Amino acid sequence: MTATISKIIWLAFGIVWVILRQRPGRRSRKTPVRYSARGAREFILLGAALSGLGIVPCVYLATHFPRFADYPFVPVMNYLGIAVDLACLWLLHRTHRDLGHNWSVSLDLRERHTLVTTGIYRSVRHPMYAGFWLMALAQVLLLPNWIAGPAGLVGFAILFFGRVRREEEMMISAFGDEYRTYMRRTARVVPWIY
Ligand code: SAH
Repeated sequence: MTATISKIIWLAFGIVWVILRQRPGRRSRKTPVRYSARGAREFILLGAALSGLGIVPCVYLATHFPRFADYPFVPVMNYLGIAVDLACLWLLHRTHRDLGHNWSVSLDLRERHTLVTTGIYRSVRHPMYAGFWLMALAQVLLLPNWIAGPAGLVGFAILFFGRVRREEEMMISAFGDEYRTYMRRTARVVPWIY
């Protein structure tokens, strides 16, 4: 195992994820949006996540910039990174299956939006975001660079902490006590912890 293989594995997982979300994306786009909280704020938050999880590491792979921040490759981190990325893909796949047409890349409520509280949503309210935390962690483990590695954690943290409360408020405005009760018996991301 070398640093180059590790980078290729990071890229391969990214491509699989992009392919995986095509079908759910097409399916949810067929269902019209009836309310959207998109705006400049959401645009910036999504830009931060895209930069950290996509643009910065892709520039690193293509140009080796910022080379000065490289550190020695440690094979065990690579194996851990593969395991975390596999868990991430499984989780993202499950969330798409359970959310169905309710999925959106931003904060939208669709026609016939239903509140999903079963399957992977039974004990956590944001399993898809849990999947993205795993994706960001895998990036740290797979890219031996002090900037390109943690960029995903920083970018996704900006999206997550900038969005999660607003998303929950939007769900409360749509589903009222049903969502409040759901909140009381679930954690945000890690079952029983947070
Ligand atoms: N935060 C969730 C969903 C991310 S996709 C997760 O991490 O799994 C974002 C969209 O999902 C939002 O526009 C919102 O309308 C929708 N959503 C969030 N939680 C939902 C739920 N429990 N049931 C149905 N739709 C939900």
